Formats: sequence, structure tokens, C-alpha cells
Amino acid sequence: MRLIFLGPPGVGKGTQADLIAKKYSISKLSTGDLLRESVDKRTPLGNEAKNFMERGELVPDDVVIGLVEEKLVSPECRNGFLLDGFPRTVAQANKLSSFLEGKGETIDRVVYFSLPQTDIIKRIGGRRSCPQCKAVYHLESIPPKEDGICNICGSALIQRSDDKPETIQSRLAVYQNQTKPLIQFYKDKGILFELDGSGVVAGVRDRLVALLSQLG
Ligand code: AMP
Repeated sequence: MRLIFLGPPGVGKGTQADLIAKKYSISKLSTGDLLRESVDKRTPLGNEAKNFMERGELVPDDVVIGLVEEKLVSPECRNGFLLDGFPRTVAQANKLSSFLEGKGETIDRVVYFSLPQTDIIKRIGGRRSCPQCKAVYHLESIPPKEDGICNICGSALIQRSDDKPETIQSRLAVYQNQTKPLIQFYKDKGILFELDGSGVVAGVRDRLVALLSQLG
């Protein structure tokens, strides 16, 4: 199974991607996570990406495409994969199509997560993450058992610097201008399915599992 999760930042793609990757034993590739890891490790790629990410802008296509292609040829993706946060531009989507074509593969489905903008802003504003094990929480909908502390590894939770109000607006504008055209791109290919991203995590997961199993 080869899937893409598409949608604005904060819509819940990452949370659902973890659940679905586990359920179907496929590899989750989140370009946001990969880039943050490179920034933390201060690799040359991370140093290049850092400023773009802090401003809420997209990292240049060639940097991200290189990162994804490297992962897609690795054994962990043999069973299939789920792309979370990639592609984000039409150039990335075209590059992905030709890369997969070269391997005789295609994307099976693109799930487009939809959510009203007011809910998106609430979700991003309340998001907290663990800098250590990368678990993601929400102050209201997925609170940690102990205030500010990761349930899994006990580290102090943080707010991602690009989740702060001043950066959220530019990320949403970038989504509108550069990523939203991908909805039509994949609609034209006949593989886009829209999912209502509202409500609690378990509810969205149930709708998503129903959608994926319905499609065979
Ligand atoms: P995310 O965790 O998916 O919200 O991504 C966080 C940040 O990483 C984005 O705001 C971008 O700066 C960068 N990023 C993640 N995925 C991509 C991508 N496919 N293309 C360009 N930049 C990306």
C-alpha cells in the first residue's frame, strides 16, 4: 500500500499517519520529522533547512526530494509507505510520480484531510511535542497524563517554534498558495479521497480505516 496524506498543517495528518502505518505495517515518512531530525543533528541539510522552517516557509524542493528518494529506496519501504507532509508543491508531486514510475510503482491513494481554518488554528496552537521521543499531544484533545510531561519518556514537552501564532499564519498562506493545488493534481489522476478531519482522534481514525478498507 502506497499512500499520501495531504492537507493543511495541524489537520491531524501526523497523528493519523502513526496509527495507519502501524495498522497496515507500512513505513511512515514524515518530511517534517526528517527535517527536524536533521536540524537537531546539525547536519548540512539541517542547517540549510532551519531558517526556512523557522519562518514557516517551505524548504527548497531539491533538498526535500533528495531526502524522500533516499528513504523510498530503503528496505523499510518495501512493504509500502505513507507520505505525511510530502509532496507539498506540484514540482515535488511531479518528481515523485516520475521517481516511482522509474521503479514501476504508483501511489494507490491520496487522502485529503479537510478541516475549517478556525479548527486548524486551535489544533496547532494547542499542540505540544516531546523533543526526545517525538510523541505529539494536544492541551485539550490529547493531554499528557502529567501536565507538560511526556507519557512515554518523561521529558518536558515543548511547543514547536513554528507552531507559535506568528508563524502559523505564514504556514497557512504557504499551504494555500503552494500545496492546495495538489488537491486538483491528484483529483485529475483519480486517486484523491476527501476525509472529514473534524472531531476526536478515534473518530477520524475510524472514518479513515473505513475509507481505506472500502477501497479494497
Ligand atoms: P510539518 O511537520 O509537516 O508541518 O513540516 C514542518 C516544516 O518542515 C514545514 O513548515 C516546512 O518548512 C518543512 N517541510 C516539511 N515538509 C516539507 C516539504 N515536503 N517541502 C518543503 N518543506 C517541507
